[in-house]
Parts: sequence; structure tokens; C-alpha cells
Amino acid sequence: LRTPVSNIKGYTETLLDGAMDDKANAADFLKIVQSNSERLIKLIDELLDLSGIESGKMKLSVKPARLPGVVRQVLSDMSKAARENNVKIVNDISDAIPDVMADTGRIAQVISNLVDNAIKYNKDNGEVRVSARTDKGFLVVEIADTGIGIPEDDKARIFERFYRVDKARSQEMGGTGLGLSIVKHIIQAHGGDVIVESVLGEGSKFSFTLPLAV
Ligand code: ADP
Repeated sequence: LRTPVSNIKGYTETLLDGAMDDKANAADFLKIVQSNSERLIKLIDELLDLSGIESGKMKLSVKPARLPGVVRQVLSDMSKAARENNVKIVNDISDAIPDVMADTGRIAQVISNLVDNAIKYNKDNGEVRVSARTDKGFLVVEIADTGIGIPEDDKARIFERFYRVDKARSQEMGGTGLGLSIVKHIIQAHGGDVIVESVLGEGSKFSFTLPLAV
């Protein structure tokens, strides 16, 4: 929280001290103020969401739900970010997959977080593939990327709040270190689980499960 607030304060003071008369620099400084404000809003939103979830205030509206439409919507919302990062998104989810018991708004948030990471921590010309299969009464949804991968020692910790493997890279990409802990809480509240498999330098695959609707 302190970093974006300090940046906003610092650049605002610089502008007031005279930099605002230098048109070219002033615009750059204002862009920094803007991006730090956006970062602050994201942090506060995620912190409030996580604190609500952790104090048991999350109210899920779980119903039999079809996932293909939810996935299509999320992927379409993320297509601009994918293009900007030169990453291709492949949707391998068939319309024929069975319904799951889910709060679709919360599951959209989970998929959005995982796909956002798969784009952010990818390589130039990389790929993100979303697929699903059934396994013993559950639907397993997989988000696989061809990105930087996660070191073995960090794998167990990335679901902790604020844990980031590469703080600088996460910060540069607008990360907060809260996304995966929110994902884990949401999936566990549905009676499912989330795991990660990864090969450093080759890519990662996040899989989460949801109970099938019967
Ligand atoms: P952040 O806001 O930093 O992305 P997350 O909680 O979503 O926070 O993820 C925690 C950390 O896990 C990230 O900072 C990153 O180091 C690592 N991580 C998450 N997803 C991936 C991925 N698909 N590939 C490589 N590293 C990842």
C-alpha cells in the first residue's frame, strides 16, 4: 500500500513544485500518478474481497451451471490483454461438458485471475490453453501456459497471500500477490481444490475442480 501512495505523493509534489509547467514531463508524471492510483484501487478491492472471504462473509449462490459460456465471456474480456502481450489464447472447452455446481460470478473471477496470470507470466509468442475434463464426480478445468514457470521451492507458497516469486515482475505487471489466495478460497468454498504443476522455463498448468451437478 505504501509504494503506490508514496509514488502518488512524490509525483504530485514534483508537479506542484514546477514540473507542471514543463508540458512533456507533466504528462508522463500524471500517467505515473494514474497508474499508481489504479494499482491502489486494485489492491484495496482485492484486500477487501479477501478479508470478506476469510472472515466467512462470502455468500455463494451455487446452482447447476454451464461453464462454456462463462469461459467464453472471460476469454473475450481478456483478449485485448493477450494481444498486447503477444500471447495466443486457445479455448479447448467443448460445449458438451457436463454442468457443475457453481456460483458463476465467482468462477468467472477464478478463471479470469488464472488466465490473467497465464498471460502476465508468459513469453513473447506464448500460448494459454483452457480445457476441461471429468474425473470421478468432478469437472477438472485446466489453464496451461507456455510461460516462465515456477521454481519447485515456490510452488507450495504461491497460494499464500502477498507471496510473489519475482516481486519486480509481478509489480511491473500490476500484480498484488493476492489473486491466487482468492482463487484458492473460492474453489475450496465450492468443495473443490486447485493445484499447480510447472516446469521452470517451460510453463505452468493450474487445475481446479468443481463438483458435477447431478
Ligand atoms: P500476482 O498479483 O503477483 O500475480 P498471484 O497471487 O496471482 O499474484 O500469484 C502469486 C505469484 O505466483 C505471482 O507473483 C507469480 O510469481 C506466481 N505465478 C502465478 N501464476 C503464474 C504463472 N502462470 N506462471 C508463472 N508464475 C506464476
